[in-house]
Amino acid sequence: TIRVESLSKRFSRERVLDGIDLTVDEGEFCVVVGPSGCGKSTLLKCIAGLEEFEDGDVYLRTRPAAELPVEERDIGFVFQEFEETLFPHKTVAENVAFGLEQQATDYDDAEVEGRIDDMLELLSIEETRDSRPSELSGGQQQRVEVARQFVRECDIMLLDDPLADLDYKLQKRMELEIRRLHERLGSTFIYVTHNQEQALTLADTLVVMNRGVIEQVGSPADVYSNPETAFVGRFVGDSN
Ligand code: ATP
Repeated sequence: TIRVESLSKRFSRERVLDGIDLTVDEGEFCVVVGPSGCGKSTLLKCIAGLEEFEDGDVYLRTRPAAELPVEERDIGFVFQEFEETLFPHKTVAENVAFGLEQQATDYDDAEVEGRIDDMLELLSIEETRDSRPSELSGGQQQRVEVARQFVRECDIMLLDDPLADLDYKLQKRMELEIRRLHERLGSTFIYVTHNQEQALTLADTLVVMNRGVIEQVGSPADVYSNPETAFVGRFVGDSN
């Protein structure tokens, strides 16, 4: 379970998050949707411990996140800017292995290789195993980044608009793959996107954000049919 209470965050004088309350249950697929600049990425970074905040609390499982060093939070984070996070001099398999190296595990070499192969196969990039990131398409590179984070099987996965830069067909395929990975791992997911269609497709629970506040939380069907504010109606609802 992830619990965020009265979270507020400023960048100099700009209030980017303004009293965010949010609970995500264990194993839930929660999607946060909202326009560009509404504070989605900042919210994920506050939960991951990558960004400081002035007011409020974050709890992971039942513990205040502030008590947990970042490396003990058991959080996987898929960033949008994947080109900047893959190692150009390492092969795909080595990049994915790096995800495991960041975690204290007692896997032997054969198990590590097995898990890498398994992940590459799930994401249909087995054939790129020995290539370098620069030899891959944008979509393949993003799959490597997803594989690198998912191979760790973290309790909590935070995904920051991971499909934003991919073409429509690839987005659709990856949506299915991400849902499949969620089912397999049973981890708690928070997935951020500015894409309404993607949000409605993926979410168990949909959170609609605008200008640093949460406007509505509910099932996709509920939010779509019964928007509680004019903004939600325009952004995801029937009147869209
Ligand atoms: P997008 O969908 O475009 O990524 P977002 O909803 O994720 O947008 P954030 O990236 O959280 O929004 O940004 C929220 C606001 O905070 C924006 O106005 C942005 O300019 C500002 N902001 C984000 N990071 C910083 C920073 N490091 N310093 C100053 N302002 C920042």
